[in-house]
Amino acid sequence: MDETLLTQDAFVKVALNVPLRSTFDYKIPKALAYRHAIRPGMRVKVPFGKGDRHAIGLVIATSASSDYPEAQVKPITALLDDSPIISQELFDLCHWAARYYHHPIGEVFFHALPVSLRKGERPEFRTETWWFVTEQGLHTELESLNRAKLQKAFLEAAQQHADHGLSPHLMSVLELNNNTAKSLEKKGLLRSEQRSFKHAPETHAHQRQVPPTLNEEQTVATKTLLAHSDEFHVALLDGITGSGKTEVFLRVIDALLKADKQILVMVPEIGLTPQTLRRFESRFNTDIVLMHSNMTDRERLDAWLMVEQGDAKIIIGTRSSVFIPTAKLGLIIIDEEHDASYKQHEGFRYHARDLAIKRAQGLNIPVLLASATPSYESLANALQKRYHWLKLRQRAGDAQVPEMERVDLRGQVLKQGFSEYTLERMRQTLERKEQVLVFLNRRGYAPTLMCHQCGWIADCDHCDANLTVHKRANKLHCHHCDSHKALLHQCPECGSDELFTVGEGTEQIEGVLNQYFKQTPILRIDRDSTQRKSALTQITQKIHEHDQAILVGTQMLAKGHHFPNVTLVVIMDADVGLFSSDFRGMERTAQLITQVAGRAGRASKRGHVLLQTYHPEHNAIECLCSQGYEAFAMDGLRERQQLALPPFQHQAVIRAESQHEQQAMGLLMQLRNDLSVHLSDDLQMVGPYAAIIVRKAGQHRALLSLKSPQRGNLHASIALAAQWLEQNTKNQRIRFAIDVDPLETF
Ligand code: ADP
Ligand code: ZN
Ligand code: ZN
Repeated sequence: MDETLLTQDAFVKVALNVPLRSTFDYKIPKALAYRHAIRPGMRVKVPFGKGDRHAIGLVIATSASSDYPEAQVKPITALLDDSPIISQELFDLCHWAARYYHHPIGEVFFHALPVSLRKGERPEFRTETWWFVTEQGLHTELESLNRAKLQKAFLEAAQQHADHGLSPHLMSVLELNNNTAKSLEKKGLLRSEQRSFKHAPETHAHQRQVPPTLNEEQTVATKTLLAHSDEFHVALLDGITGSGKTEVFLRVIDALLKADKQILVMVPEIGLTPQTLRRFESRFNTDIVLMHSNMTDRERLDAWLMVEQGDAKIIIGTRSSVFIPTAKLGLIIIDEEHDASYKQHEGFRYHARDLAIKRAQGLNIPVLLASATPSYESLANALQKRYHWLKLRQRAGDAQVPEMERVDLRGQVLKQGFSEYTLERMRQTLERKEQVLVFLNRRGYAPTLMCHQCGWIADCDHCDANLTVHKRANKLHCHHCDSHKALLHQCPECGSDELFTVGEGTEQIEGVLNQYFKQTPILRIDRDSTQRKSALTQITQKIHEHDQAILVGTQMLAKGHHFPNVTLVVIMDADVGLFSSDFRGMERTAQLITQVAGRAGRASKRGHVLLQTYHPEHNAIECLCSQGYEAFAMDGLRERQQLALPPFQHQAVIRAESQHEQQAMGLLMQLRNDLSVHLSDDLQMVGPYAAIIVRKAGQHRALLSLKSPQRGNLHASIALAAQWLEQNTKNQRIRFAIDVDPLETF
């Protein structure tokens, strides 16, 4: 027998896509030729579960021995890769993430892989059929095909593109199909070739845009960033909306492209990508790859391969693109870094911004965080000089900063939520042939349906929450568990037909505005009106077609859109969130208001913002209006420090949920008791307490919060808690989740 084989490791530790914190041991069968080739990062097929069921796993380590008796360890069934499917760098990142977030290692690794690879497919581009004209086809008279119009058109195109052939992309543009080609192939006029798919080169034949001359602040920012382009360095580009942050990225990207580096640009939501994409395409003559959740598994794998092999230089992606394998990554940009959608809210609860920074550190490359309303976390890091703080306080070009005005609602007669003054200002704006944006962060027609006779309120069967009325869809919809039922017209308690709605949502406001402003197009942007794939694009197109228009929408409006003719922004209810029980409520409200306000007057006309409020003298509203977000945030940070809240302390919450009312709470109570003897003095536990919406989707929910000024102490206690929970929930129907650095704590 070959000597080297004898010294090879005989076991592998495999991570499986299951919610367990351990890896699984398997034997490497002696007979297999690949025995010495098996390495961490390769996928294997292994027996798992009852009967002859199998699972795909990822090899985490090889070892000479197993902790289990050899007879119990099953052999792997097959090795799926000839080389690791995940680079060492990402392998380390996933390992780190599993430890930091105390999440089952298999789920972390599988989250980092595209779905097709999780299922065991090969990491290869799909192949496409290309058509070429044959020698015979080239010399065939087109007239001979006069009775077969489609064939004639196809052959003509094939003759015209004799050099390069017809790609599927070109065929779809020319409206040619494969069936026609097959008929011509039978006649010997065409031949086909299977080619591996790569980004269609047609997509970046755009006109190049001439970049504007940078202003002073932009120049300083760009120079600073370029000075640190070869090392790990975190910069916070803190620039008001319209200050030219994107322009700064583009300059830095340009320099890095010239150094043959790849750039990962992360954006919070797919809605933003088409606009960002167009701007990038008009500047750079290079392949840009998109990564987001609206792609098919096949498209994602192709994009993944393009980036891994270094063919795509710029990647624009949402949260999970932080795990994309790269050939020579040179910079990670996180646009709108404050956005909560960077944090995954279920399962593996990672924060893509924080992981991106960790990844950049491993690669020794810079990270650029950008926002008009930076998170308190990033501001605290900037204040402590851990991040390089770059400020842009002027609007780029000749745009001016919008003016914020409070509209006192106290004692006013309101018309469906609008004060008379607000309506008058809207009228004046429309008369100048300018546009108005109305912001209300509540979709649907009304948040509540009530009975006039008995006071009955329509609530969800599965949650402790009211159902929202959606008139157009004729439905009652639960925004917490997504269940819905038909809209009722009679009270189920007393039979009365006097049902009425309380409060307003965007759907109702749209209707009201249609009555007040009959001549003006009213466009609604929220999750309901943009469900269809191209709906958002269509709405934004309409906005650009008309001078006069009113846009009504939820927080979707706050994100990155550019509406040059909007000069008035109305915030219907500035008080929402101000008095929320979550300590992040203020931060989030200020970010939202500032972002929405930033939509006003982005071109040369000055914008105005009206904040309708019942608390015009409230410190927070006063500070935000007169001094702006930075001053507001500095106040907020001082308060967090006094109260020992994040980012000055480190926090984690443990959530438990079960069908039975007291079970989740009981479990956490017991955990607290058992844990408290092992904890360091500076660790503070709060709870367990019930979630604000206790029952959601039929599950009763409770939380336990842990806090410490020392990250190490917090992590040690979560590790203990995780172990305890895994043991104590084994045969119970209780689910638990660990959320490190949670954004929500209720
Ligand atoms: P932000 O990303 O901060 O919102 P953008 O980079 O999108 O800002 O810039 C806002 C607008 O100003 C864009 O239309 C952009 O083309 C323009 N712009 C940016 N920088 C300059 C500049 N130095 N001179 C003139 N126009 C500029
Ligand atoms: Zn009733
Ligand atoms: Zn519900």
